[in-house]
Amino acid sequence: MPLDDLGRVERRITVIGAGLAGALFATLLARRGWEVEVFEKRGDPRLRGYEGGRSINLALAERGRHALRLAGADEAVMTQAVMMRGRMVHFSDGRTSLQRYGRDDSEVIWSVHRGELNIVLLDIAERAGVRFHFNRGLESVDFDARIARYLDERDGSRHQAAFEALVGADGAGSTLRQAMAAETALGERSEFLDHSYKELEIPPAADGGFRIEPNALHIWPRGRYMCIALPNDERTFTVTLFLPNNDLPNNDLPNDDLPDGDGHRDGGPSFASVRSGADARALFERDFPDALPLMPALEEDFQNNPTGVLGTLYLDCWQLDDRAVLLGDAAHAMVPFHGQGMNCAFEDCVALAEHLDATADRAAAFAAFEAERLPNSRAIQAMALENYLEMRDRVDDDDYLLQRALEQK
Ligand code: FAD
Repeated sequence: MPLDDLGRVERRITVIGAGLAGALFATLLARRGWEVEVFEKRGDPRLRGYEGGRSINLALAERGRHALRLAGADEAVMTQAVMMRGRMVHFSDGRTSLQRYGRDDSEVIWSVHRGELNIVLLDIAERAGVRFHFNRGLESVDFDARIARYLDERDGSRHQAAFEALVGADGAGSTLRQAMAAETALGERSEFLDHSYKELEIPPAADGGFRIEPNALHIWPRGRYMCIALPNDERTFTVTLFLPNNDLPNNDLPNDDLPDGDGHRDGGPSFASVRSGADARALFERDFPDALPLMPALEEDFQNNPTGVLGTLYLDCWQLDDRAVLLGDAAHAMVPFHGQGMNCAFEDCVALAEHLDATADRAAAFAAFEAERLPNSRAIQAMALENYLEMRDRVDDDDYLLQRALEQK
């Protein structure tokens, strides 16, 4: 292990990915006096606007806020967060009902904009002394020589940099994970759902305010499919429509007689049958009639926005001796039905920073981190999946469906 001029173990680390987990983890270590460099595939979002193609806003829970507090980021993040006191259920007949998360406003969750959150975390990390290298996508790693190679997608130029150890915060499609898998068996497997999602928007009202109750997570449960909407501080809502990928045959339809469902006896909507903006309008007219007038650009949004896939990533091993370790979605991507992927990634950051800081034996720190966090992430992945399965399969029990569907976030 390299020593500095005074004979102390050098506390230096390289993080791959400046997303939510990468920026937070880098801050936590820099605040403990570590020298931290971060390499990010995309450009600096503070210069060019946020380019992330994934969910626009996220539910931030106490688990995540605890990590933000330790990084000194909570106050800045909370200035842009919108409180969600509970779930506002929109029934098919137009009735709505607010179900509080807790007794009072001390037990709430928060809606945060992914891009704004990322920018706040980058600023705080930089102030803590973290050095960022944007437009540097990890391409390959020579673990023996401890050299990482990066691609600048703007001009195709290639760069390399030495490292002591790599931390993979490069998301579900992690390149570092691929490189580690070439060195050691990670036991990787991915399971994709037969449902996908599409993001849509409710813009501000004509007077500039919110069009519907801002301090709630809105949900339109409809059996095998549903919509949710989370508020943004610029008075918009991000709506997420979850639909099956394919129609089910008639005799396999569990929700034909669902009292608050759509009542029709065809295969039910899916991304195979709802393909155009006009199809989306027809779906909303029939199943989400109170949401339709809130979304003047529904057709354009549906056609222009990508359809996102949903899956769970399992690994049996998150580390390569003292040279590399994975955290966040790179280690344990999960379906979003519990709203805990980012919160869980933030908990990883705290745990890894603590283990690294507690010992000069980096391999032992990585192993202790994995031993602590892998079972936790498995439990959260299972809960997220359970919610999805229960929502999908037990839809003949209306009360049960509502209870479970609404417990998702
Ligand atoms: P990411 O956010 O994916 O960041 C990875 C970063 O690495 C990116 O900046 C990327 O550009 C960069 N990168 C990728 N490849 C390379 C490379 N080769 N070299 C360098 N950099 C690279 N979680 C919640 O807690 N609450 C929610 O309400 C919630 N809702 C969700 C809704 C949806 C529809 C989805 C899909 C997810 C949701 N999640 C939610 C989960 C959450 O989005 C993730 O868990 C979280 O983003 C994980 O953070 P991360 O930093 O590990 O990965």
